[in-house]
Amino acid sequence: MYEKSKQLYERAQKFIPGGVNSPVRAFKAVGGTPVFFEKANGAILYDADGNEYIDYVTSWGPMILGHAYPPVINAVKKAAENSTSFGAPTELEIELAELIIKMVPGIDKIRMVNSGTEACMSAIRVARGFTGRNKIIKFEGCYHGHGDSFLIKAGSGALTFGTPSSPGVTKGTAEDTLTASYNDLEDVKRLFDENKGEIAALIIEPVPGNMGCILPNEGFLEGLRELCTKEGTVLIFDEVMTGFRLARGGAQEVYGVEADLTTFGKIIGAGLPVGAYGGKEEIMNVVSPTGPVYQAGTLSGNPLAMSAGLALLSELNDNPKIYEELDLKTTHLEEWLHRVFKHHEIPHTMNRLGSMLGIFFCEEKVTDFSTATQTNQEMFKFFFHGMLERGIYLPPSAYESLFLSNALTQEHIDKTVAAADEVAELMAEHFN
Ligand SMILES: *Cc1c(COP(=O)(O)O)cnc(C)c1O
Repeated sequence: MYEKSKQLYERAQKFIPGGVNSPVRAFKAVGGTPVFFEKANGAILYDADGNEYIDYVTSWGPMILGHAYPPVINAVKKAAENSTSFGAPTELEIELAELIIKMVPGIDKIRMVNSGTEACMSAIRVARGFTGRNKIIKFEGCYHGHGDSFLIKAGSGALTFGTPSSPGVTKGTAEDTLTASYNDLEDVKRLFDENKGEIAALIIEPVPGNMGCILPNEGFLEGLRELCTKEGTVLIFDEVMTGFRLARGGAQEVYGVEADLTTFGKIIGAGLPVGAYGGKEEIMNVVSPTGPVYQAGTLSGNPLAMSAGLALLSELNDNPKIYEELDLKTTHLEEWLHRVFKHHEIPHTMNRLGSMLGIFFCEEKVTDFSTATQTNQEMFKFFFHGMLERGIYLPPSAYESLFLSNALTQEHIDKTVAAADEVAELMAEHFN
């Protein structure tokens, strides 16, 4: 079934560390060999062996309206014919900046970069430059890309591989990163008290998607906003996942809490390598060439990437019904999975917001890093492979969220539930 993928994986391992260009792709968290893909259309992926899958990863978010989405493909083709890069300004950059500022609350100015990692690294530098302070607060299990400052108790692949605090990060850098427990306001207060006047920024995934999907308790984000305002700390919402996914204005629109700086990635480039950071004018004005904080990029604002992002975000901006439809589809999937697991007496918990869905095999609620890591990994592996064999492509780690696309139809979801029913029956036999 996976002969060609297996051959490609062997060949890749000779020339690429671990055979992949981003660790989670190697399937280490679920075992087996990664699937190599050839093409995709709408909600369906096709692998190198000709197998078909219903996609619940959506390239970790960007394919929110499905793969090979015609308006995006046409925009990229058109832009490519006018050259793939200038290293000089274009009107497309202004258009995308204007559109984002229109869609997301609290953003006066925005700078384009090439990945979510770059966006978060830059936002932290800007916050440090703006406040003249060194330390930052992040949350256990939250992932903000692979910048040195963030590889302290990080989520996503870093968590999967058991190295949430990475070698190669100097002690000095690690000392400037303080970690708090998600959903624990008291823990954050304690860090502020112990480091009076030293905290430049607090960075958080408002709705974490990198330790599975976890939701903020009532008042948690509001509490962080108040603390940061009181302490003169820059509040950074990392909306690389949640931006343009939970709503046009991301988590900030959903919860009505505005950050000082926001970082973007994933959906913003419609599958091309783009990231961005933006926020309040007084803070963004410290960025070079207006201000002294240096940040640059040869390919930043690349015309192909800008065109793709513009095409996708325009659709999302013009058709707010998309979010209602995504919500309905995801609610439906969640309800049916719940019935299936219940029927087969599989202990489970699910967290959902909009089209993000976290599936955990455990009895208790999952509200933070420590509860997320107590879930049953063996059950997840079994579920993952059972679903894969039945043509359902889930994120290859229990510490990742599902992301639905609006290309999914009722038929796709029914097929997914039917597959889950078969796998859950096998799980009941295997684990009980
Ligand atoms: C994916 C992700 C990043 C990193 O983005 P890259 O484009 O992979 O560098 C940062 N923050 C969050 C919340 C993410 O999900």
